[in-house]
Amino acid sequence: MDEVLKKSIKATIEANRVKISAWNDSKCIVCGSKVTVELQNLFDTRFGIEEVWDIYLCEDCEIKQTVPLPSSKELKDLYETYYNFGGEKGTIYTSFREYFISSVLYRFWLIADGDISYHNQKGHGRLLDVGCNEGRGLKIYQQNGYTAEGLELNETAAAEARKAGVRIYADPLEEFKPEKVYDVVVLSNVIEHSLDPKGMLNHVNRILEPGGQVWISCPNVYSWQRLVFGKYWINWHVPFHIVHFSQKTLTNILEKARFEIQEIRQESPALWLAHSIIVRLFAQFGRPTKQLRNPFLVAALLILIRILFFPFLWLGNRMGRGDCLVVVARKVPK
Ligand SMILES: [Zn+2]
Repeated sequence: MDEVLKKSIKATIEANRVKISAWNDSKCIVCGSKVTVELQNLFDTRFGIEEVWDIYLCEDCEIKQTVPLPSSKELKDLYETYYNFGGEKGTIYTSFREYFISSVLYRFWLIADGDISYHNQKGHGRLLDVGCNEGRGLKIYQQNGYTAEGLELNETAAAEARKAGVRIYADPLEEFKPEKVYDVVVLSNVIEHSLDPKGMLNHVNRILEPGGQVWISCPNVYSWQRLVFGKYWINWHVPFHIVHFSQKTLTNILEKARFEIQEIRQESPALWLAHSIIVRLFAQFGRPTKQLRNPFLVAALLILIRILFFPFLWLGNRMGRGDCLVVVARKVPK
């Protein structure tokens, strides 16, 4: 990892934090109303970034957000340094993941575990996967009958995705002007990373056919696992998760962006619970949690969770306390 870049990020975060601590009247990034602190001193449990963040609740629209908010420049640097594809290739973990996802077993696993990435959704039409990374999902959408394209800001990941002959655009969504509008736009674990989720949905609406669908999945901030794991819940994922949705707040923001909900359900992926358990056991401030990438530990936990925790996961989903929100919404014709 580039030490100079790491130091510059730390300096920017610190400068921003000083600014924010003097800024008592933080505003909601969705509606601009007053926000109040709900949870303090969360830290990055994956990469070991040496900073802390808080979670604030909007008194009006009830959205929860990470504070201090990173600037878009800072966020880009953070992704380049810690997050994106390119930093991890050819490891046992990634090879195991690639093998599993391309196997028939994966399709059965989705039926048992819950399909939060729409990988079992068959159909046809033009589909855009926003934040498609190195294009794993795109191959599956194509096999399922869609003409799939991707939007990916990270050049390394985009180049990798293009190798499979798929069309990948590197434009930011707000500047993206497709030749032809889409039937489906996929936001699979993407919207919670946005500094402007409402703007994101407005742009998705703009590039959809009237009646076209947006397929969303994102963590549920009212998950029972959040209560069990507290600050160690994997889906706080500060500072990369900016917005923390509930079923209600996600529905509201979709309706404001001129979508109507067609299907809404909750799932609790075994992988997310495995990650929360690993983080609870091993995460330390300022240190990367290497165990999250241990294929043997992760695989063992996945199997154990699916067998032992099945009733809790199933019940949680049905009681509105699942770990992941899965929502299909349709663009309302003008
Ligand atoms: Zn608000």
